[in-house]
Amino acid sequence: MIPQPNAAYADHQAIAWKCQLEPGKEVLVDVYGTRQAAEAVARGVRSGKFRAYRPAGAYDAVACPAQYGTAVWARYVDGLDAEPVPETMTVRVPDYCTQPGYEGVTVVTVEISARCRACGGPRGKGRPDTFVRDGKRLVRDAWDNACGHHDSYTAVLHEARHRVEHPRKHKGELRGGELKGVEGGKYAAAVDLIASALEVNPWFSAQKAIALLNDNGEHQAAATVRDFAMSNVAGPSTSGKSAALFLVHLDTEARAADASTTMGDEK
Ligand SMILES: [Zn+2]
Repeated sequence: MIPQPNAAYADHQAIAWKCQLEPGKEVLVDVYGTRQAAEAVARGVRSGKFRAYRPAGAYDAVACPAQYGTAVWARYVDGLDAEPVPETMTVRVPDYCTQPGYEGVTVVTVEISARCRACGGPRGKGRPDTFVRDGKRLVRDAWDNACGHHDSYTAVLHEARHRVEHPRKHKGELRGGELKGVEGGKYAAAVDLIASALEVNPWFSAQKAIALLNDNGEHQAAATVRDFAMSNVAGPSTSGKSAALFLVHLDTEARAADASTTMGDEK
């Protein structure tokens, strides 16, 4: 079955618990009709805007293109040295395409999305698979997707050609890794500073973030991160990413509070 957008709201508490049962394993949150909606949900999971996924940074989430919309997949990463989920994978596939003067099979190495085309879930890891054709032994890659959707080599070749022909359509296809300050937020500059540091070093810690923020005159943000790290279960090993996500969370809440105040004043 291929998941589709539906009118019911996702049961975030149930999904969060399911993620906790197998830390690091991705769980489907839901499929959304628009990419923007899916990205907003993925952000809400990462920043802890949705209560079920608190504290901020305990869960990671990505929005991925799927057959009937954009799917959000979440995983529990608290206390794990979880690497960002890969966007692409390289596989060897048989190409039966007949060329003038040559008929038969060649094995080509291609780059494809690391996500299932049907549901946006993670594709399985490729393993060498030997096959015999016209008395010749050849090696291709085979993989099984945990979601159960099967990839045919023909579809994979088609996808790979499409990626080569339309590189811009596939660039940044997987939304999730990027960390950005909330526009107009008190901590927007601080979040962007930490995000740049994380690009260079994904293990950049909250402790280092405090120093970086102080060096750049973001003293209030530095103090907030220090308090957050002290109150957090991870303590001194709190990651820079959690710290940045916490600041995003504060700015998001402040903005929501502002919006409700404004609405209250408009009579
Ligand atoms: Zn799938």
